[in-house]
Amino acid sequence: SECDLHFLVHSMLDIGHLNMEQDVKLINEGPQEGLWVMTDEVKLTKVFMNLIGNAKKFTTQGHIVVGAKITSDDVWVECWVKDTGIGISPENLEHIFDRFYKVNEFKQGTGLGLSICGAIIELLEGQIWVESVLGEGTTFYFRIPYQKPKEEGI
Ligand code: ATP
Ligand code: MG
Repeated sequence: SECDLHFLVHSMLDIGHLNMEQDVKLINEGPQEGLWVMTDEVKLTKVFMNLIGNAKKFTTQGHIVVGAKITSDDVWVECWVKDTGIGISPENLEHIFDRFYKVNEFKQGTGLGLSICGAIIELLEGQIWVESVLGEGTTFYFRIPYQKPKEEGI
């Protein structure tokens, strides 16, 4: 169904503000109003929620950036969640999409969030990937095929 990308990113940031105890700023890099795409909004929301939840869990200061855009070739809806958190080492980075894989056992969580994100994105025929520097931060990207609604805004 039709999904308003501007509204979606906005909502994700609203939810991100809830229970934010640390001094972390949420930054909106979402698109302008009126950008509608055909997609499964519920699934997309789940992916964002998992990634933002992770960003909050592993970031004690700095900022979390949430964004979305259509790629310049009009092929993909590309989204990202960027944080200035603890980062992930290259060795661990290879495994984080595996079920039950956690780097820090002392942190809350079952280690399933990213494997669910991976499964959802696969279902939507997209891709998900990550860039991270230990001690500096992490950025998750995902993209799904861009499908325009037949009539914009409806
Ligand atoms: P769950 O999502 O099931 O509550 P979880 O958050 O531990 O548990 P995943 O979301 O699958 O599980 O993430 C797997 C692991 O990847 C995390 O435990 C953490 O070690 C690492 N990780 C994920 N996102 C980040 C991030 N933004 N910064 C640093 N490490 C991360
Ligand atoms: Mg998680």
